[in-house]
Amino acid sequence: MHGDKERWLAPSATPWDDADEDSLGPAETLVMACHRDIYRYRHAGTSLEGEAEFFNAYARESCPICGSRAIEGNGKDANGIRRWRCRACGRSFNVATGTIFESHRIPVADWTEFLLETFSYESLKGMARSNRRSRTTPPYWLAKLFAVLSGVQDDVVLSGNVQIDEKHYPLSDADQQRKADGSKPRGLSKNQICIAVGCDDGGRSFFSRLGLGKPSEARTRAAYAGHIREGSHLVHDMERSHRVLVEELSLTSEAHNSKLIKTPPDKENPLADVNELCFLLELFLNSHSGFDRSRLDGYLDLFYVMMNDPEEKMEKAAFVLDRAMRFPYTLRYRDYYRKKASSTRKRGP
Ligand SMILES: [Zn+2]
Repeated sequence: MHGDKERWLAPSATPWDDADEDSLGPAETLVMACHRDIYRYRHAGTSLEGEAEFFNAYARESCPICGSRAIEGNGKDANGIRRWRCRACGRSFNVATGTIFESHRIPVADWTEFLLETFSYESLKGMARSNRRSRTTPPYWLAKLFAVLSGVQDDVVLSGNVQIDEKHYPLSDADQQRKADGSKPRGLSKNQICIAVGCDDGGRSFFSRLGLGKPSEARTRAAYAGHIREGSHLVHDMERSHRVLVEELSLTSEAHNSKLIKTPPDKENPLADVNELCFLLELFLNSHSGFDRSRLDGYLDLFYVMMNDPEEKMEKAAFVLDRAMRFPYTLRYRDYYRKKASSTRKRGP
C-alpha cells in the first residue's frame, strides 16, 4: 500500500537512530532501548533499562479504581515507578494500574518482543509462500492486545478513490448450520461471516464485521458509512447493497462485474488493491485457524494496524505501547458502557 515498503533495517538498527533523543516519545524511546538490550536483558534477568522512565513519562489525573480526580503523589515503588494515593477511596496505585502492564505479569520487554513478532510482515509473507501456520500465540496476550486496540479504527475515514469489497470467512465448523441430511448449505449462507474491507489511494484501509451471509443494506450502511467521506469516488463490484452508500454519501459510483475483471493482470484490475487486502486477510485469519470467531473484531483491529501506517513494525509496537499507557482499559471499559447506546461497534475487552 505504501511507496517504500521494501525498506529493510540492519539487525541492530532502529527507525529512530538518526533522531534527536529529545524528539522521541516515551514509547519510541522504550522500544528502541528494548531492541538494543533484549539479549542482554534476557541473560541478566533483570528489569529493562529505561522501563521506569517509560512508565514515569505518563501521568495519571484520576484514580483508575474509583475515577476520582482527588489524587496525590505518593513516592515511588521498589522499581522506581511513580505512585499516587486517592483521597476519595484511599487506594494506592501506580501509572501501570489499569493497563496491560498492571502487576507486571508480562514484563514490558516481553510485551515489546511479542508485538514485534505479531507485526512482522515477514511472517505474513512466509505464510503466503508456504501457507504454514504461525506459532501459536498465547490467547491471554492477544486478549490484552485486542483490549488495547479496541476502537482503533473508529476514526478511519477513506476519501478520494475508495475501493470496497466483502470478504467471506466461514464460521468455525462446530457453529455451522447443517441441512436435514447433514450437509452444509452452499454459497453465501449464514455459515459465512461477511467482512467489509475498504481502502483508498492514500494507502489507508479498514476492516469491519458486516454480518452473516449476504449483506443487507442496513448492515452495509453500518459497516461502511462512517468510514467513507461524502462525495468520494467508489470503485466496487455489482453488490446491490452498496447502493445505499452511493445514495446516502453522494458517492460517484464505478461498479465492475467482478466475474469479468478477474481475468486481466492485477495492474489493470480496478479492484486490485482491495483484492490484495482480502487475500492477505484470509492468510492472516488462516494463520490463526480455529480462532474464536466472537473475537473477530479484535483480529480485524490487529490486521488494521498491520496494514496501515506507521509502517515499520517497531513503530507499530511503540504505537501500541503508547496507546496502552494513554488509555488504561479500566477507563476504556467505563467508556464502553457510556458509549454503548450511540455506537454500533462492539468495544471493550
Ligand atoms: Zn479512588
